Amino acid sequence: MQNNKRDSCIRCGTCCVKGGPTLHHEDKDILRAGYVRHEHLVTIRKGELMFDPRVNALCPTDREMIKIRGKGSRWTCRFFDEANSTCTIYEHRLLECRLLKCWDPAELLSVIGKDTIVRADIINPGDPVLALIAAHEQECPVHEVNELIEGLSTAADNATILARLTHLTRQDQAIRAYAVSELGLSMEYSFFVFGRPLSQILSAHGISIR
Ligand code: SF4
Repeated sequence: MQNNKRDSCIRCGTCCVKGGPTLHHEDKDILRAGYVRHEHLVTIRKGELMFDPRVNALCPTDREMIKIRGKGSRWTCRFFDEANSTCTIYEHRLLECRLLKCWDPAELLSVIGKDTIVRADIINPGDPVLALIAAHEQECPVHEVNELIEGLSTAADNATILARLTHLTRQDQAIRAYAVSELGLSMEYSFFVFGRPLSQILSAHGISIR
């Protein structure tokens, strides 16, 4: 991330293309004001692989995190206007974006993984979607998915593991479909509620479930 040749932002957009920020408690006012909405977010569930700038590598997350969603299958921040290389919410950008200086990442690194929010922090306590999140966590647990993926490289026969991954992927899809058709949740909102679809997580590991 460090770029010693600069001492100010030249708006190259490299940081925004690499991915949007993780949200901290300090960002809740921006959410309350509606500059960033739930539909703009994606949940990274505890244990999912994510790029950690502190070690410059993909690591399993030690906590649930909420990030600004990318564009399609890319991580490019959805608020990044690529044609003009600008941030469309610049005046209301989030804490990590305000601290980010590619030529001196110390300030940003000092807040990474600290005081971050989880889904329950920004959902009303009585919202029925909380029960759906709990059911999804129980039916499609990340730790089991990780163990199964790990098992693929060591097990003599992968058929049982793949069958279980297929079952979990179907469960994930069924819960999302139920939330959309029966509860009227939008597809956009479901990335915040349930995180990335399991099929997407598996495909990042080179596993495709039909
Ligand atoms: S919110 Fe703005 S500054 Fe932050 S990553 Fe997105 S486009 Fe870049």
